[in-house]
Amino acid sequence: MDTLLDRFIRYVKVETTAKEDSKTYPSTPGQLELGKILADELRALKLENVTMDEHGIVMATVPGNVPGAPTIGWCSHVDTSPEFTAKNVKPQIIKNYDGKDITLPGDTARVIKVSECPALKNMKGKTLITTDGTTLLGADDKAGVAVIMTAAAQLMANPQIKHGPVRIIYTCDEEIGHGTDHLDLKKIDCTCAYTLDGEDEGNIENETWSANLATVMITGKNIHPGFAKGRMVNAIRLAGQFIERIPWHSMSPETTEGRVGFLHPYVIEGGVPEVKIKVLLRSFVTKELEDQANILRNIAATLKAEHPEAEIKIDVTEQYRNMLEYLKKEPRATKLAEQAIRNAGVEPKYQSIRGGTDGSRMSEKGLPTPNLSTGMHNFHSPLEFACLEQMENAVKTLVELAQLWGKKNENCKRKNARNHRAERLTFFLCLFYFAFSISHSVPKEHSYPPNRRRS
Ligand SMILES: [Zn+2]
Repeated sequence: MDTLLDRFIRYVKVETTAKEDSKTYPSTPGQLELGKILADELRALKLENVTMDEHGIVMATVPGNVPGAPTIGWCSHVDTSPEFTAKNVKPQIIKNYDGKDITLPGDTARVIKVSECPALKNMKGKTLITTDGTTLLGADDKAGVAVIMTAAAQLMANPQIKHGPVRIIYTCDEEIGHGTDHLDLKKIDCTCAYTLDGEDEGNIENETWSANLATVMITGKNIHPGFAKGRMVNAIRLAGQFIERIPWHSMSPETTEGRVGFLHPYVIEGGVPEVKIKVLLRSFVTKELEDQANILRNIAATLKAEHPEAEIKIDVTEQYRNMLEYLKKEPRATKLAEQAIRNAGVEPKYQSIRGGTDGSRMSEKGLPTPNLSTGMHNFHSPLEFACLEQMENAVKTLVELAQLWGKKNENCKRKNARNHRAERLTFFLCLFYFAFSISHSVPKEHSYPPNRRRS
């Protein structure tokens, strides 16, 4: 029988690295390849309505076996980060981990250190899956993909577990910010959903950044350097000055933590005539994004005053918004997750992510979607690893979650609401009748003061 570990190892071996600036969706063909494998497996498990659309999004439904329970969604992404290669992943399975630093065999300079990853301290005796050091593992988010598939398999194989319907959604290109571009929430049709895309175990991530992207275009003037005096405007030099003036000590990812937002120049390209700089704007407070954009605008204005021949344009686009506000619409989403994690034997903890998830966009679009953890660690790095027991607890959490939602009967709620409405109507009719009879039982001559009686 297929185990959680079998599935995970099978999925990480398919190269699904997302690619920025690709002309296609999904951005790379490997994502479609894994999507087909997943759709076939979902069909083999006898899930209902298994589909893979032209964008590579795979959906399926675990039918509910209690009437009236709301539908929930489980969502993870098949792509891996473009920050490091995931071609030819050679997973290393470490059973009964000894609690020491782990040297990776394919590149012994790469060592997963306990001092740099304190979560390892709680994993002695557990099973870890690492790479050989030459690639990403892709546990982000194939741990989530495998956890969801295994939880679905358990629900399908055990009809005695009572639960509501569960919609499974595997998305593409999350790592390059396009995970929800083609998601149709009407088709998903859930009360709420959960992304399985978090680190460690027991985490409920209910707050993400609010995020904008600023693109700075600096246009200079190019001319042969031999004749350049007083005529050349070098966009590269201006770009250097521009970046130098973005606050570093107080507002960069490398100098801040916790709830402090940042400005992060992360791409620069171009030459003497023109340079493009991309800057990430990040804050938990949406309105602070405008202040951050103004810092860039002020730098541009000063630089332009110093170099009037140059052109500096800043274009700000919205990326995603803090999900916290949108989760208030369905408070049961996090409350039941908390209960499910506890039922799985893990202590739940709420976390704010200094990042975004597919759930940020989904929540904003109207589907409240907190993020749950799956046992992945050190993601986006060749030092990435996953802890099998933590992944197993994530499976337990999902099975518990499906049962807890199964106890929420929406028909019952609707019937109650109808009853309440009927009761309210009866009450007001009685009140009206009572008021009407009183006013008509008062003797006519006393009903108006004599001096105000109409003639
Ligand atoms: Zn992820």
